[in-house]
Amino acid sequence: MKVGIVGAGQVGASAGYAIALLGKAREVVLVDLDPALAVAQAEDISHALPFAATTTVTAGGYDALTGSEVVIIAAGVSQRPGETRLDLLTRNAEVFRDVTGKVLTHAPDAVLLIASNPVDIMTGITTRLTGLPPGRVIGSGTILDTARFRVLLGQHLNIDARSIHAFVLGEHGDSEVLAWSSAQVGAVPLEEAAVHRRAPLTDAVQARIDEGVRRAAYRIIEGKGATYYGIGAGLARLVAAIGGDERSVHSVSIMTPEVEGVMDVPLSLPRILGKGGVQGDLVPHLNPQEHAALRASAQLLKDTLESVPL
Ligand code: ADP
Repeated sequence: MKVGIVGAGQVGASAGYAIALLGKAREVVLVDLDPALAVAQAEDISHALPFAATTTVTAGGYDALTGSEVVIIAAGVSQRPGETRLDLLTRNAEVFRDVTGKVLTHAPDAVLLIASNPVDIMTGITTRLTGLPPGRVIGSGTILDTARFRVLLGQHLNIDARSIHAFVLGEHGDSEVLAWSSAQVGAVPLEEAAVHRRAPLTDAVQARIDEGVRRAAYRIIEGKGATYYGIGAGLARLVAAIGGDERSVHSVSIMTPEVEGVMDVPLSLPRILGKGGVQGDLVPHLNPQEHAALRASAQLLKDTLESVPL
């Protein structure tokens, strides 16, 4: 499989590195507004390959994306001093219009994986700009939030995170919803597993885990300025699921026709990923509070998306 990455900054390069080390792609091509940066990142990643896999990592222009099955868009436009959030979003939309036009000229059948933030809004904007079917424009959404939720539950219960089946839904951001009521450990409901493991889910434990998931990015940014390794590995996992036609389930963001009565909104739900992108959704049962929180998250995203002039 060939994978393109547009935006060879910290997130794009981390994704390229993780994809190369996983060894699931034959070829990775990096493209950036700054060609020297793309060349340097490709060369640096290439030097890891003798220790790992047989992937080829190169840099090039948009024409080098020809034949890519997946193209990750991690081109970042950061906020200028005095710029409002909406001004930034409007500028981002223009950058994405240009970038996606060039990507689809050279890789017309590619699945687009969106990593730029705010990821749900950028996913919605890209779907509208390209007119592609929603399942082919996939935002990394809450993949990391879900991973953090599973890790923290696993630590509390002293069970491998891979055996914890729990999802974070909605926005990748402050309004995200931890779906506690549908969480399972193996085939046992979370509450029951907590009793078995003598690790009760008290209000204090739930608050600590909620904070641990919801505030993780803030803590990392405070300590090192940006987050990129986690998202890089998450993107590599999504690339493997698509390239291998795995039909595995991941919480990713796509334009969704209806969620909790809110129409046409980009947000994360557990989705089945394989060839061609999202092949279906698996929405868990929620309790009334979770339904209300998901509705609020969906409405917030919908209102923000509608405010961006396209
Ligand atoms: P992040 O931490 O999100 O990766 P960076 O600033 O490190 O942020 O990387 C963003 C990258 O996106 C930069 O290398 C920048 O040159 C690139 N970029 C910005 N605009 C475009 C564009 N229009 N086309 C391609 N790459 C772009």
